[in-house]
Amino acid sequence: MAGGWARDGAVSEQIEASISDELARLKARRGPQGESLTHCAECEEPIPEARRVAIPGVKLCIDCQQERDSVQAQRGGINRRGSKDSQLK
Ligand SMILES: [Zn+2]
Repeated sequence: MAGGWARDGAVSEQIEASISDELARLKARRGPQGESLTHCAECEEPIPEARRVAIPGVKLCIDCQQERDSVQAQRGGINRRGSKDSQLK
């Protein structure tokens, strides 16, 4: 019976690990949280109040955010293409 207990413990450890992985992923996807900045962290342009209300914890003005998003989209495209190549091989 002792073996059964040990196995149960290992399974719940795995579940806890995957839950914390999932939470970290959700947090990263949700983006910045906390207090919104009144001025952009990159270029110090004022961030419109409507944007600050719409995006809690916003740190960047629209221009800087778009620049950052396009860089991330490019990286994602490269990664996706890379995994497709490896599947074909
Ligand atoms: Zn900016």
